Amino acid sequence: MYILNMKLMKGKIYLLAVLMVVSVNLAVAGSKNPYLLDPNWPSFPEGISIGQATGVAVDSHNHVFLFHRANREWVEPFPDKSIPQDTIYMLDGVTGELIDSWGGDLFIMPHGLSVDPDDNVWVTDVGSQQIHKFSHEGELLMSIGETGVQGADENHFALPSDLSITNDGSIFVSDGYVNTRIIKFTSSGIFEMQWGSPGTQEGEFDLPHGIAASRNQIYVADRANSRIQVFDYTGLFIAEWKGEDIGRPYGVATYHNGNLIVIDGGDQPDKTRSRVVILNTNGEAIQSFSAEKESDQENLGHDIAVGNDGAIYVVDAWARSVRKYILKD
Ligand SMILES: [Zn+2]
Repeated sequence: MYILNMKLMKGKIYLLAVLMVVSVNLAVAGSKNPYLLDPNWPSFPEGISIGQATGVAVDSHNHVFLFHRANREWVEPFPDKSIPQDTIYMLDGVTGELIDSWGGDLFIMPHGLSVDPDDNVWVTDVGSQQIHKFSHEGELLMSIGETGVQGADENHFALPSDLSITNDGSIFVSDGYVNTRIIKFTSSGIFEMQWGSPGTQEGEFDLPHGIAASRNQIYVADRANSRIQVFDYTGLFIAEWKGEDIGRPYGVATYHNGNLIVIDGGDQPDKTRSRVVILNTNGEAIQSFSAEKESDQENLGHDIAVGNDGAIYVVDAWARSVRKYILKD
């Protein structure tokens, strides 16, 4: 009896310790999470679902563009054939309705997606080693990189992870899973400059996985170095932000108040994390919340976007989901 009580007591103390650790991890500096999951978003028609979801962005009409792999899974070596189903969905940011879809028979392994200031849609395909520019309606306008040819020169990529377009049309690409560099192209796709090499020092990278350009600052999710690096548009190093609060950044998005929205996908192959972190202009984590659901088998928070209304959109590659979080009143 005495032994049993001791066991119970130990169990209670252990449970208490676990709860304390969990609650510390969930909150940043004691701040309350002001965001709520929108349970009615997205609102797909019967029979429509998404595969591994890897890219998300919001355009000026509050359309949410989603890049996913349909029935294809990440497998190496990459398959030769493109995915027959539509891989790009356009959703209404308010209602979550599917307004448009395209992107069938075009991509080997969908990865990054971005929308430029003119509402064109840009993607990276780590399977074909290319980036592509499409109109808002899905007409192919430009491609950079040689189909299926991996490289490290001015005209080739090696699994390019993400991209971002500035107001003057400059194209910044994070390249990527093999090369450890950021490349800048002109608006017409001409190579302009690059920076980065393997390592942990300033301006070095270990899997630059996500990128966002805004107001003369480039934010890079330097995933395997577990940090955000900040540069100006010429590649000049400005700052690095890292720590337990920030975790392992996979994707970044900028909000018009200057805050940076980060998705922390955790350590792979754990498949156990999708967490949103909001950083102020000094790189301090001011809010953080889990984007996981209890029903998820696995999680990998992969990309993030924020609308002009402040709504946050998260795509989870392993949970095969896109979720919307809105500010509480
Ligand atoms: Zn639109």
